[in-house]
Order: sequence, then structure tokens, then C-alpha cells
Amino acid sequence: MPELPEVTALAEYLDRRLAGAVVEQVRIGAINALKTADPPYTALVGRRVDSVGRRGKFLVLVTEPVPAEDGGDRGGGADDAGPLAVVVHLALGGWVRVTDRIQEGAPPRGKGYVAARFGFVRDGEETGIDLTEAGTWKRLSVHIVRRLEDVPAIADLGPEPLAEDFTLEAFRKLLNHRKQVKGLLRDQKIIAGIGNAYSDEILHAAKISPFAIASTLDDVSTARLYESMRRVLTDAVEEDLGHPPEELKDEKRRIMRVHRRAGEPCPVCGDTILEVSFADSALQYCPSCQTGGKPLADRRTSKFLK
Ligand SMILES: [Zn+2]
Repeated sequence: MPELPEVTALAEYLDRRLAGAVVEQVRIGAINALKTADPPYTALVGRRVDSVGRRGKFLVLVTEPVPAEDGGDRGGGADDAGPLAVVVHLALGGWVRVTDRIQEGAPPRGKGYVAARFGFVRDGEETGIDLTEAGTWKRLSVHIVRRLEDVPAIADLGPEPLAEDFTLEAFRKLLNHRKQVKGLLRDQKIIAGIGNAYSDEILHAAKISPFAIASTLDDVSTARLYESMRRVLTDAVEEDLGHPPEELKDEKRRIMRVHRRAGEPCPVCGDTILEVSFADSALQYCPSCQTGGKPLADRRTSKFLK
């Protein structure tokens, strides 16, 4: 799943490509993916892209009506004089495909599934955007809203970890939960934008066990976790920026130091990276760096050891 760094890079790429472009086409390939009915998605046609940004793991494309003297207002958006935002959550298997032409026709179903298809024109140049989704769990979502807070999951988001005003003091308050720190970092209502991959990376950099209870971390560990979080995310954003969407997944895999690297040597100490697997996910960690050399209990391996 794309997390804060990848979504930041996607947003930045799309903003450079689409800011000022006019929406020519919107097609919905999977009605389940579209979570809102008012305003209708057809209201986007004829509007101009103001910006593409990010909030949490959401891509946010903001459109404005084209002033009448520019020959605008040919879409169905006569009632919407203000901004309309397209808010996309790519979920587990979602991605963005960019083409140099507007794709004609209905989006394909089944294999090569496209949840939504957009076409834009800027200075006579076309851009097609397909929101694709792999896998069987269809979770990609598209909201079309007048205000960002109209998307419930956005209204519930915790603070942005890279925001300038997100201080160590603010972070310390968030840790006041009797909850494993790995789960806390991934909880979007507590802090926005971090998922399974970057929480592994942040905890490894901070030398903290994923199973440590957040509220029991002392001041030194808390400060190290805060610093690691900011550094890991900032470094990843810097690595990702400038890469087109089709390169970002490989880029993410390349910069991971422990995530999905079970069996490989830890780049810090050389110990073997271990894994704990759950029903639908797994975490990776370095025992020497993070758990005093002790392997964490794993339901799967302990079954074999009995
Ligand atoms: Zn290590």
C-alpha cells in the first residue's frame, strides 16, 4: 500500500502534470469504488484542476469552475461555484496509471481492472489517468466532495507527522495509549500517513520493539522514535520525489531496510532480520537492534516448535 512518501510523490507528479488542466472525461469503472453521489461525478467535467496534494494516505485533486469568460461552465456543475475535490484512497492494490492520451471507451473490467478513468487537457495536451486495482479485495475508494472533511476518514485523521508544528511534545501526547507502538504508528486516527512498511522502518531506526507498549516508552525512547519517524519519512520523500508513478513501487522496495527483508542481514548490525506473521500481514524487525536479541513470538513458527 502506498504510504505518506509514495502518495506525496504521486501527488507532486500529478500536480506538475495536471495543475491548470481542464477535466474532459470522468468514467467510473466500478460503482463500488465511488463512495459519494452528491455532487455527481459528471459535475467535474469542464472544471479546471487547481492542485493535486495529499492528506494522510489520500490523494486530493482539487478542481475549480472555469470562469465564464474563459468559455467554461459547460459541465453539470452550475450549482457548484466553489471547489470540488476528488479524494482517492488507493488501499492495498490500487495504483495510478498515467497515459499521454485520454483513453477512449469504458474502463476494462476483470483483469487490468480500472476503478475510475479521467481525461484532462492542458494547452492542447492530453493526459489520461486510470485508477487501477490489483488483487481480489476491492478497497480503492473515490470521494467527490465540496469540503475535505466531508470524507469521514479524512475528518478522523490524526496529525501529519512531517508538519512543522508537529513537535516532540505533540507526539508525546499521542503515545498515551496502552497499545503496541507498531499498531499505534499505523493507526490513521492517531497519526496520518504511516502504514505497515514505514512503521517497520521507523521502529528499526529507533531501535524499539514493535510490541513495546506506547504509553510505557521513556523520554529517551520517545525522542528517538520521534526523530526516527521524521527522518525515515523525510528521507523516503526525498528519494521518491521526481519519480513517475510506474517507478515508485520499486523505489519503495529499494529503500526499505527491514520491511519485507526477513532472512537478510540487518544493514546496521548484520544480524538476521526476522518476521512475525499475522492473518493478513507480517512485520519484520532486527532482534539485535530492537528486542535485545530475543525473537518475538510468532504464532506460525511456534506451532512448528511444539
Ligand atoms: Zn540490526
